[in-house]
Amino acid sequence: MITLNRLEKKYADTYAVRDLSLNFPDAAITALLGPSGCGKTTTLRMINRLIEPTSGQVLLDGQDTARLKPEVLRRGIGYVIQQIGLFPHLSVAQNVATVPDLLGRGKAQTAKRVDELLSLVGLEPAVYRGKRPLELSGGQAQRVGVARALAADPPVLLMDEPFGALDPIARDEVQERFLKIQRELKKTVVLVSHDIDEALRMGDYVALMQAGQLAQFGTPDDLVRRPASDFVRQFLGDDANLRQLAGVEVRHFVRAGTAEGLPRIEADTNTRTALALMLRAGSEQAAIWDGERLLGVVGFSDLARAEAAGVAPGDSDVLLSGHAG
Ligand code: ADP
Ligand code: MG
Repeated sequence: MITLNRLEKKYADTYAVRDLSLNFPDAAITALLGPSGCGKTTTLRMINRLIEPTSGQVLLDGQDTARLKPEVLRRGIGYVIQQIGLFPHLSVAQNVATVPDLLGRGKAQTAKRVDELLSLVGLEPAVYRGKRPLELSGGQAQRVGVARALAADPPVLLMDEPFGALDPIARDEVQERFLKIQRELKKTVVLVSHDIDEALRMGDYVALMQAGQLAQFGTPDDLVRRPASDFVRQFLGDDANLRQLAGVEVRHFVRAGTAEGLPRIEADTNTRTALALMLRAGSEQAAIWDGERLLGVVGFSDLARAEAAGVAPGDSDVLLSGHAG
């Protein structure tokens, strides 16, 4: 677990981060959300000591990171940024392999690990390992950045607006892919974002910041349904519930029924998209399929009931286990 204890960063006489105390739970994605300039990047960079705090502490599994050598600390922390800074003269494989832990391995072992990582992020190794960064699309380059950050298998991943520069379709794909990877690897992830949709969709937890301070920490459900202040409510907006549905697969709302005459939607479709597909088809219900298997149907009224009851959405594991804080 990453713990921030009264963390502060002051520049001249203004605070970039002020009296910030926060736990980032293990094996979960916490979205560090907030408007531009509220201190997200500064907070993230104090965790891996690219920025030294003015006061307060960062604890990693109870250990004060100020006592660790920055190089040692960073070995256990993957870091992904928007302009991922791939080396243009190196191949994709060489870019992924430029991690201290990999440099010490033999050639064959490194090549094997690089191929594993490329497969993990959805890039066919045979096609991509020899390409140069300039031959990649933005989404592909971002995947290489994620592969590189995961190369040394660090328990912690810090991501600063990693998908911010991508067009909406590429962003959607990379987010989806990253969620799949995370379900497998269960890293402790801090994901900086100013994008509410991204935070509600990707975050098991959301830490919303306001002017260097914490406005609210909780599950997406907590923030949407139980905003701690007017700032939280206004920041999330009137359509927060709808945004939240983007983080839940439509399979969660399925009930028994027959598919006849209904539009077909795949079970892993996010619920907001499913709703849009139903609206487009002019149908109040849809048949939900898991490949060739019919799971049942979902209708507008199922979603409305779930919404009203506050049931739901989200990764059920997270909901059942409650939230750390
Ligand atoms: P965010 O990532 O949320 O957009 P930052 O953490 O980058 O915000 O910045 C928080 C605040 O601190 C901003 O007002 C920014 O202008 C200020 N700031 C950041 N870095 C510096 C710096 N090196 N010197 C002075 N002010 C800074
Ligand atoms: Mg920033």
